Parts: sequence; structure tokens; C-alpha cells
Amino acid sequence: MTAKTYFPEHYRAARTGFIAAAEAAQLGITSRLLGGIKGVDGEPLFLDTAWAGRRDAKRALLLISGTHGVEGYFGSGVQTSLLRQGLAAQVPPDCKLVLLHALNPYGFSFDRRVNEDNADINRNFVDHARPPANPDYDDLAEAAAPKDISSASFAAANSVLSAYGAEHGSFALQAALSRGQYRHPDGIYYGGAKLSWSLHMLKDVLQEELKDVEELTVIDFHTGLGQYGAAEIITEAEPNSAAYERAQRIWGSSLRSTANGQSLSAHLHGTIDSAMAAWMETRALSFVALEVGTQSVSKVFEALRKDNWLSCHAPADFPHRAQIKRQIRDAFYPDQDDWKAMVFAHGKAAVEMALAAL
Ligand SMILES: [Zn+2]
Repeated sequence: MTAKTYFPEHYRAARTGFIAAAEAAQLGITSRLLGGIKGVDGEPLFLDTAWAGRRDAKRALLLISGTHGVEGYFGSGVQTSLLRQGLAAQVPPDCKLVLLHALNPYGFSFDRRVNEDNADINRNFVDHARPPANPDYDDLAEAAAPKDISSASFAAANSVLSAYGAEHGSFALQAALSRGQYRHPDGIYYGGAKLSWSLHMLKDVLQEELKDVEELTVIDFHTGLGQYGAAEIITEAEPNSAAYERAQRIWGSSLRSTANGQSLSAHLHGTIDSAMAAWMETRALSFVALEVGTQSVSKVFEALRKDNWLSCHAPADFPHRAQIKRQIRDAFYPDQDDWKAMVFAHGKAAVEMALAAL
């Protein structure tokens, strides 16, 4: 069986495949239910964890899929494929491996990047009484997330964004839109109004499955940024900081920091990385996002805005719902064998480097 066999068709299949692979490898499994909300086909939604190695290990590797819902096809595919290839047996003695499947199961099931509150859980860890300001987004809010997607309105919105890009540069535009905003619940890259269920559960995983760990390495699997099938290993740590140097020892020259503009990603507010760093306190954390490319920035961005419109503003009888859902799925999960082979290779390499460093 090749790895692509284990890239799922939808959230339900992803979950079934992951649990079957974890059971076959005789791993302990814990499932946390997202109460009161069902998936796209009425299915229950779970964040599942499986673990291998020593229960009270001081050093551990955590692999997270589905932080951004629809990006979960990739992370889930890598997790399940690696388990089927014997990953659990490669965990060094005295160490622990924890696989967290579908951190944002709602987004995975509904093919959305955000959660049940239209919130990006990777912008969610802020003081919600005093969230960070993003005046650049405020200025662009209507154009970023148009309330009307007729071609004329969309073209007008695009020209507002293009004008901003022409004046400030395209990376400044990307940063303004994507770094996170807390004033427009029907906008994109909205960080939410309260700590999300997913982050509460992540904290719980840290306190239960990882409670004895003193040194934690984390790979969080993402898609949608970069060239088709290419990968970037992204840290938020400042170059020359202890966290950066730890990450560089593990992933070498593949590492890119958002703190100094090396990465394709902007520096973000309220990330999972910052949450885990706060919860870990003085314990050592090496957290990276493995980001793989899918389509062009403009195509991914258009899919994201249309999906946001569909969720926040579309009339109930809107006839082209399926078309927009197809568009967003393709933007974050090109369902093609060559792409799966390339991104699986990146995932496997990143995990092997992390295991070697343990
Ligand atoms: Zn992502």
C-alpha cells in the first residue's frame, strides 16, 4: 500500500482510518467529543489522540493535524500513513509520541479553515478582553470579506486590495489580512471572541497525555501556502533565540522564521505555538508548522473569501453551494497523486528529523 491510500476522502474516513491504524499499532487512544455540534453528515465530531512509547516520558514528539479544518486531509494522511509504516516502533526508548488527530474537527468535516464560530484557532490565543488591534484589516474589512460576491462587487473589492498591495507591497497586504483580527466576526482570519474548544482541549492534552514532558517537539501540519507540493518548516522564534536554535538543530536549513521575514507566512497573533509556549512555562518547546503549497495565493485567497461569504452571508437557496465547497477543498487539498506523494515525503522527512533529534 502506498501512502496515498491513507489520504482520506472526508473527515469520517479520516477518523476511522486513523483509529484503525492506531489500534493496529496497539496504541492507547483518547477521544474528546465536541458536544452539541454535528458534522456535515450528522456525524459526531472528535479530537482523537493516540500515543506510543513510555507513559511518563520526559521527551516527546507531538504531531497535530486539522488545526485549520480543511487542511486536515494532509496531516491526517501523513499521520495514518506513518502509523501504517511502523512509526510507533521508531520512537526512541524513554520517549513518547503523541498524535493529535483533527484539532478542529468541525472545520475538517465542513471543509472550512475555521471552527464552529468562524474563528481561526491559530489566531485564537489572545486576551479576549483586550485583543490585539489590526487597523490595517479594519481599513480593508469590506474588501477582504465582501458581503456580495457578484462579479462586479468582487472585482471592486479586489481593486481595493490591489491598490493597498501596490502602495504597501504584496507581503504587507498578506500580513494585514492574515495576521489575525478580532473586530469582524464575519470576516476572514477572525481570531474569535473567546478561547475555543480546540484550545481548551489542546491544553487538556498537554496536562493529560504530556504531563511529565520536559522537552516537547511539535509539528503542526498545514497546507495552502507556497508552490504546489513544496514545503516550508516555519517557526515563530526569533533567529538566535534558544527556541530557534533548538529548532535549527532538528530541521537544519529547512527552517524559516516568521519573526524576520524569512518565511512565506506573516508573523501572526494568538497562535497555537504561543499558547503551548505559555502553558509549557519553563519547559523546552520546539514548535514548527510544516506548511505545504497547493495553488497560487490568489486562488487560495479567493476560495477562502467565497467560503466565508457562503457561511456568513449566502441566502439559504443559493444554488452554487457545492461549487464553492469544491473550490475551497481543492485550494487546501489538491486530490492528486503527485501532490500526495510530494507532501507525504515532506511530512515523513520532518517527522524523521524530529525523531532522530529526540
Ligand atoms: Zn493552516
